[in-house]
Amino acid sequence: MEEIVEAQKQFFNSNTTKDIAFRIGQLQKLESILRANEELLHQAIYKDFKKSAFENYTTEISLLYHDIKEAIKRVKKWSAQKRVRTNLANLPGKSYIIPEPLGVSLIIGAWNYPYQLSLAPAIAAIAAGNTVIIKPSELPINTSKAMAKLINENFDPNFFKVIEGGVAETTDLLNQKFDKIFFTGSVPVGKIVYQAAAKKLIPVTLELGGKSPAIITANCDLKISVKRLIWAKYLNAGQTCIAPDYVVVHEKVKEEFLKLAKKEIAQSKFLIEEDNYVQIINDKNLQRLIALIDKDKIYTGGEYDLENRIMEPTILTNITFEDKVMQDEIFGPILPVLEYNDLNKIIQEIKARPKPLSCYVFTSVKKIKRKILDEISFGGGAVNDAVMHIANSNMGFGGVGESGIGSYHGEYGFRAFSHYKGILEKPTWIEPNFKYHPHTKSKLKWIKRLIG
Ligand code: NAD
Repeated sequence: MEEIVEAQKQFFNSNTTKDIAFRIGQLQKLESILRANEELLHQAIYKDFKKSAFENYTTEISLLYHDIKEAIKRVKKWSAQKRVRTNLANLPGKSYIIPEPLGVSLIIGAWNYPYQLSLAPAIAAIAAGNTVIIKPSELPINTSKAMAKLINENFDPNFFKVIEGGVAETTDLLNQKFDKIFFTGSVPVGKIVYQAAAKKLIPVTLELGGKSPAIITANCDLKISVKRLIWAKYLNAGQTCIAPDYVVVHEKVKEEFLKLAKKEIAQSKFLIEEDNYVQIINDKNLQRLIALIDKDKIYTGGEYDLENRIMEPTILTNITFEDKVMQDEIFGPILPVLEYNDLNKIIQEIKARPKPLSCYVFTSVKKIKRKILDEISFGGGAVNDAVMHIANSNMGFGGVGESGIGSYHGEYGFRAFSHYKGILEKPTWIEPNFKYHPHTKSKLKWIKRLIG
């Protein structure tokens, strides 16, 4: 690991990556490799957890194409020196900010959207002029291998390399002196990464998880709300970091909500054999999910197939914050439904817990929308929708508090891998005397008059 990181450091120090044309060339190359290997990428992810070609394209590969195109189009602007105002004390002079790449970056990916979560940060890192080492998640072993094959066979390892492995390899990597660590994964492992980075004062972006609430108020378009919510919850069988983890629904519309949700699940045909659903990633996670189902509280679903690692879309009702399913992020196709009648109280309950990665509010009342958006702190979210905010790269995507540090997508990704160097440039034809010794009373008087 040390040798690889050292070789990347030397490559970075050659200034090759500072050239915008080089960055654009590498991004174009990545796009053409992905386009030429879409089928290989699909086969790999299908082997890992039966993700369909439709979902592989819409939730992974197409997002990467979008990021690459956007980066190619805007990298010149993003990396341009920016002039800023100069304060009075520094006049005459000019001030500007130079975006510079941080250097050698490490990207540690999660398994649930294995291509997107490893390659989207890599696109941002390349656009910003860094060298990149990706450590994909080892759980979807075929996607990890596919990424390693495509990147390692086509790119100079001193610039861009995939290193496969699990805890041991990641630990080894975390002992190296990177210039940036970008981690996507769970809160407990996020803490390990942050601690390792702190020892070497390495800047981090941590894209973590948590329990994201969806609030269904009494005044919403229930039909469309349920449709959007059910799609968002059971996409990838609930194995989505920004999936609505649980629902709090106003007591007046609870029964109607449950009925519509059950109907929507039936209509959606979440069936693996129809390429409409995915497997749970491994036996351990399926067992963890099974243990979260309180049989007495099943409204619909609850069945599972151990051999094929499938769990039915499940809704649990009459749930309170004390239930087992409400203690940790679910990360699977179980939707607990809690009832409320006092919005203030439910806001307090949410605020008493770690700040969520996302929050969704379904309402047609402006005042309620404003209240929820203003009073609850969370990474990002949507009004009358769920999950789709991630697709707008004009908004940074990331968590706050325990759901993460920093953000990415679009220019925010470029910023995550950049340092902004502030420069004051002075002419030499004049030099006011105020700051120089000896410090006299009359100089102080003039300074006070000028600065205020
Ligand atoms: P994870 O934390 O188990 O693993 C993430 C990465 O860390 C993997 O590459 C893994 O090899 C490595 N890792 C695991 N244990 C480690 C250890 N002890 N030391 C060093 N490295 C270690 O997460 P996961 O199961 O892959 O993903 C699920 C979690 O990720 C959920 O909590 C989910 O919400 C979160 N997530 C967040 C986002 C986001 O964008 N915020 C996106 C996807 C997933």
